[in-house]
This record gives sequence, structure tokens and C-alpha cells, in this order.
Amino acid sequence: MSATAIHLAPVPTSPIEEIAPLVARLRETFDSGRTRSLEWRRQQLKGLIRFADENSDALVKALQADMGKPELEARAADIGQINVEAKLALKNLKKWTRPQSAGKVPFMGKSFVVRDPLGVVLIIAPWNYPVGLLLSPLVGAIAAGNAAVLKPSEVTAHTSAALAELLPQYLDTDAIALVEGGVPETSALLEQRFDHIMYTGNGSVAKVVMEAAAKYLTPVTLELGGKSPCIVDRTADIPVTARRIAWGKFMNAGQTCIAPDYILVDESIEDELIRELEKSVNEFYGGETLENTDYTRIVNARHHKRVSDLMAGEEIAFGGESRAEDCHIEPTVLRNVSPDSPIMASEIFGPVLPVLPVKGVDDAIDFVNRGEKPLALYLFSGDSGTEERVLGETSSGGACINGTIMHIGNSKMPFGGVGPSGMGAYHGKYSFETFSHRKAVLRRGFKFDIKMMYPPYTEKRTKMVKKMM
Ligand code: NAD
Repeated sequence: MSATAIHLAPVPTSPIEEIAPLVARLRETFDSGRTRSLEWRRQQLKGLIRFADENSDALVKALQADMGKPELEARAADIGQINVEAKLALKNLKKWTRPQSAGKVPFMGKSFVVRDPLGVVLIIAPWNYPVGLLLSPLVGAIAAGNAAVLKPSEVTAHTSAALAELLPQYLDTDAIALVEGGVPETSALLEQRFDHIMYTGNGSVAKVVMEAAAKYLTPVTLELGGKSPCIVDRTADIPVTARRIAWGKFMNAGQTCIAPDYILVDESIEDELIRELEKSVNEFYGGETLENTDYTRIVNARHHKRVSDLMAGEEIAFGGESRAEDCHIEPTVLRNVSPDSPIMASEIFGPVLPVLPVKGVDDAIDFVNRGEKPLALYLFSGDSGTEERVLGETSSGGACINGTIMHIGNSKMPFGGVGPSGMGAYHGKYSFETFSHRKAVLRRGFKFDIKMMYPPYTEKRTKMVKKMM
């Protein structure tokens, strides 16, 4: 196992021409059958765990250099995903890969479903949780017996470089390779034939990925984003609700795919909720986020300008400070936001939270259903009837009642979007399924061979079939 990750951009010396031979090499390994053995899968999963254990300090450092992630968030929400997923896969590998009986059908024989690896898969990751969103899909790809190409985001260049340098020391590099780079390199990768592509990122690039995949009829899993609403009704415990929303929103400075995007609050409690949100933010960050190591910065100048522009002209309830030189935006809550304003037109993906009053749950449901299906939906309510209505009358990738973000933490649940927020799902066994083909197998014996099913189809036989069917 040699360290052979190829360094493309931002390391300028590695040529794009290496991509096609690299994918060919991985395919050769897959075709040799090596990745199918459970022993190989176990070794790679253990390698990933060792990688995470031995390099977490280096990864934290890289994440801090890239976007000033607090160490706790870097470990818990990003790097930590590797061990959670890899340990679960290791524990369940035998069970997941066992042929699954589909019962016996009279005169036909025994049926079972076999999980086949797909082949060589491509995993493209974004910058907001650049370690976990690259390597937790890899766990599924390995567990299912595939070879894989990893494409970390070029936006978080330190993390990309750290992964490129360290990861190959722990994995079978003839089967798992990492390609660094941006649009040209990803485009070159997308020209290759893969057996599955998993892309996490924004919806516009997802269309590019899907179009490239269509050329070879390659299946895709698309983990995208959207405007995840937070509905707060008058039965909610306001201080707890505010704390949980503020935590989910301002973690990673709002740069989380399932961060609450905006709040729909019953108009009778709007003022109280905003007061409590401010109180929570002050408790979390002591009224100071610029020099605060518990608060992330915006990843780069482009995103800083994009989010700052969205705030322009809006009424600020609290926060609102934006400093371009530090890529910093304070936790900000907006009020009296028009549903037609630019900030309500697309995913905010930053620490700015519009609050929109509604007359009640009917209004909130209508509002959500007028938009695209979100990746997550949050409801804060003490009323089970409201919960039933909101869950039953809206569609979202996932949902969390009286909390934010935390539903992603249960690996026994699928994580994915619906409609424009994504296609397919992963985590835990769902990752293994995503990177497997479910092959339906029937095994017959030689003893019973019913002649009447073969031609010639006499009138008598046809009549019998007519009666049976
Ligand atoms: P990004 O800019 O890092 O892009 C994602 C990947 O796409 C990168 O690896 C990048 O190199 C590649 N890429 C960019 N442009 C490309 C092009 N023209 N052709 C081919 N490849 C290209 O990340 P982003 O898109 O800014 O990520 C943020 C978005 O991702 C948000 O919408 C967020 O909600 C979503 N997201 C979703 C999840 C999820 O699990 N559903 C998780 C995190 C982020």
C-alpha cells in the first residue's frame, strides 16, 4: 500500500491527464475481485478508523486554517462522522452482506437477494464539513465492496491537502484514490465512466453531475440543500426552542445543509421568540463573535459577499455586523422580512435568520408547501395534533420535532433530500445499500420440471392457466 494520491489543484504540478489512467487502475483492481472480499473491506474500514484516530489533531488544524472551525465542532460534527460510520459498518458487515432470503415459492425454488458491489464509484464532497462529507460516504462504498475515487472540495484547500497527504497511508491506494482540484479536475473526472456517483453540494452543480452521469447511465445520489423551515407554534416552550434553533443555525456560522433557514412563528409569540434568540446567542458567544473561537467564520470572500448582500435592506432584530477582512458575519436575526425579498429566494447558508410571523399552523403549512421541498423541516410545538398535521401535510428530506440538526445523528435513519433537496440517502446501512446492487436470485432444483409450462400450448393447458390466473 503506497501513498499515491495525486495532487491536482491547488497543487499545480499534477496533470489532469493522470485522471483517466487512475480510474483505469482502480477498475483493474475492482475487476480483480480484491475489493469484494470481506477481509479487504474490514481492513479498509479499520484503516479509516486508524486514520481518524491518528490524525484528528492535524485535521482539526486544517479545518481551523480553512474556516476557523471550533475544535469541538470539528471533532463532533465533522471528523467524528468517520468513526461513527466505520465502526457501525465493521460491526454489521457480516449481517449486511449476508444473502437475504426472499422465501420459497411453490414449484419455483428458493429466492434470495444478494448485495453486489457496483464497481468504481466517485464521491464528490463540499467544503462545509469537508472531512465527514467525503469519508462517511466512503464507508458505505467500502462496506459494499467498491473501489472509489474521492474528490474533496477545493474551497477548503488545507483540509484537501491534509486528506491527500495522510489518507493514502491507511488505505489500499490501488482501490481508493483521492483527486484534488476544482472545476477542471472534477469535470475531467466526470468524463470517466463510473458505476455510481455520489455528489454532495449545491443544486446547480448537481445538474452538471447528473448530465455527465447520464452519458453512461450511471446512477447518482445527490445530497443537496434548500430552505429548511422552522415552524414555532404558540404551545412551544420558547426559551428551549430559541436555544435549540440558535444552536442549529449558528453552528458552523449557518454553513450547514440542514441549518434552519428561516422561522415561521405564530405572530402572538414573535417578540418573545426574538428576545429569547438574542439571549441564547449572548449566552453562547458572550456578545462577541469576532474573536470568539467557538464561532466559525464564513469560508471565503465570495460567500461572505453573497450572505452580506442578502442582509442588505432588511430590518435587523439583532446582530448584523459584517467584516469582509475577517470573512466574519455576526449571528443575525431579521424581522419583518417579506416572503418576496431576495433572502427568501434561495438557501441562505450563513448566520442570518429571517423570522416571519404567521397566523397559525395552516399558514405555516401553506408557506412551506409554496416553496421547494426542503432538506429538513423543524417543528416546535407541544401539540401532537399539530405535529401530525405538519408531518402529514408537508414533504421534506427529514424532520425533527422540538429540535434542530440532531436527527442527522442517528445512523439508523436514512439521511437525504427529496425533490430539489436531493435524491437517494445514506448513513449506516443506507450507505451500504446506496453503493450496492440488490441482485434477485432464484435457485431451482432439478427434480421437479413441470412439462405443462413448455410449448406446445394445447387448448387444455391454456384453459387450465385461464382458471388459475
Ligand atoms: P463546493 O463549492 O465545495 O462544491 C461541491 C463540489 O462540487 C466540490 O467538490 C467542487 O469541486 C465541485 N464542483 C463545483 N463546481 C463544479 C462544476 N461546475 N462542475 C463539477 N464539479 C464542480 O460546495 P457547495 O456546492 O458550495 O456546497 C454547499 C451546498 O451543499 C449547499 O447548498 C448545502 O446545502 C449543500 N450541502 C448538502 C449536504 C447534504 O448532505 N445534503 C451537506 C453539505 C452541503
